Amino acid sequence: MTEHTSQTNSTGRIPEQAAGGVLHIDLDALASNWRTLRDHAGGAATAAVVKANAYGIGIEKAVPALGKAGCRTFFVAYLSEAIRARAVDPDAAIYVLNGLFTGTCPTYAQFDLRPVLGSFQEIEEWAGFCRAQSQKLKAAIHVDTGMNRLGLTVPQGTTLKDRAELNDFETALLMSHFVSAEESDNPLNAQQIEAFEAIRSSLPNIPASLPNSSGIFLRDKPGYDLVRPGYALYGGNPTPDRDNPMRPVVGLEARIVQLRWVEADHTVGYNGRWLALDKRRIATLSVGYADGYPRSSSARGKSGDELLAGMALVAGHPCPFAGNVSMDLITIDVTDVPEARVKRGDTVTLIGDQLTIDEVGHRAGTIGYEILTNLGARYARAYRGEQG
Ligand SMILES: *Cc1c(COP(=O)(O)O)cnc(C)c1O
Repeated sequence: MTEHTSQTNSTGRIPEQAAGGVLHIDLDALASNWRTLRDHAGGAATAAVVKANAYGIGIEKAVPALGKAGCRTFFVAYLSEAIRARAVDPDAAIYVLNGLFTGTCPTYAQFDLRPVLGSFQEIEEWAGFCRAQSQKLKAAIHVDTGMNRLGLTVPQGTTLKDRAELNDFETALLMSHFVSAEESDNPLNAQQIEAFEAIRSSLPNIPASLPNSSGIFLRDKPGYDLVRPGYALYGGNPTPDRDNPMRPVVGLEARIVQLRWVEADHTVGYNGRWLALDKRRIATLSVGYADGYPRSSSARGKSGDELLAGMALVAGHPCPFAGNVSMDLITIDVTDVPEARVKRGDTVTLIGDQLTIDEVGHRAGTIGYEILTNLGARYARAYRGEQG
C-alpha cells in the first residue's frame, strides 16, 4: 500500500499552512477497522455504510480503500451519494437507504444502484418499472421493527410473501435496523431480533441483514447474511460500556493564531460568558462552528470550573475551552501549560488518539456521529494510506 499524504477537499486543495485546521484521515485504519468488523461478523458478509460523505471523511477516498480491503457492498442515504460511490467503484453493490423517490427508477437502472424499498408504494413503483423494462432489477426491502421511522411495518412485512410484485424484481436483501444496539442490555434488541426473525423465516431464500456497528457486538450476534457497520469503521466505539476495539481514523489539529494574558475579572469571547478569576493565558485557535465544531462545546462559567465543555490537547496537556465557540475561532485556557511550550503557530489537538470522537461528542452534548458528519470543508485534509 502506498504511503503518501495529500490535501484535498470539495473546494480543491487547501495547503496546510493556509488552513486553520488540518484533518488527518487514516485510510489504513479504516481498512483495518473493516477487517476487524468482518472478523466479528460470524461469517456474515460485511458491507460498509458510507452515507454523509462516508461520515465526513470523503466518499471518494473511503470507497476505494474499503473496496481494496474486500468490501463489495455499500450503503448510502441518497441517490446522489450512490452516484458518487459508483464513480469510484464500477461493480460493487450499492444500496440507497432513504427509499425510492418518485420518478427516480431510471437513474437507479442507469447507474446499477439498488433502492431500499420501505413501503408498498415504493415496492409497486419499482415492480412497475421492472415490468416495463422486462428486467428483474435488484432492490432491498426494509422492515421497521421498532424505530417507527422508515420501512414496512411488521404486520405488512408478514404479508410480503403473498405480494405478486415480488415476482417482478429481485429482492436481493431483506433488512431492518436496530434502535439502540449500543445499549447491549436493552430488551428492545431481542424484541427486534424476534420480530425480524418472524418475517425473515417467511421469506427463506432472501439474504437478510440486521446489525449496524453496535449490533455486530451484541451477545446474540444476529449476523444473518450481511452486516452494515458505519460508525465503527470510522473509529467510533460500538461498545460504549467497554474499551473501543476500533482504531481511530480521524484526527483534527488546529493552529494557534494568538496568545494573550487575560487579567483577573475580565471575560473571554462573545457575550462575556467565561470569567477569568485570576490572570489566565488564553490561546485562540483558528477553528470554529463554521468548521462544524459544535458551538455547544462552549465553556460558560469561570476559570477553574469543571465544565462539560470542549477540550484541546496542547503539548500533551488537556486545556479547557474558555467562553463561547465563535464562527471561526475557539479560545482555550493554556495557563497550566509551561509558558515556553506554547507559541503562536503551534498546532493543538482537537480530535486525536487521546481525545476521541466519542469524547468530543460527549463534551458537546451530542454523539460522535454528529462530530464526524459535520467535519468542515475549510480544513486541509491529509489522507494516509491512500490508494496510489
Ligand atoms: C446509518 C445506518 C447504518 C450504520 O449505522 P452505524 O451505527 O453507524 O453503524 C446501518 N443501517 C442503517 C439502516 C443505517 O441508516
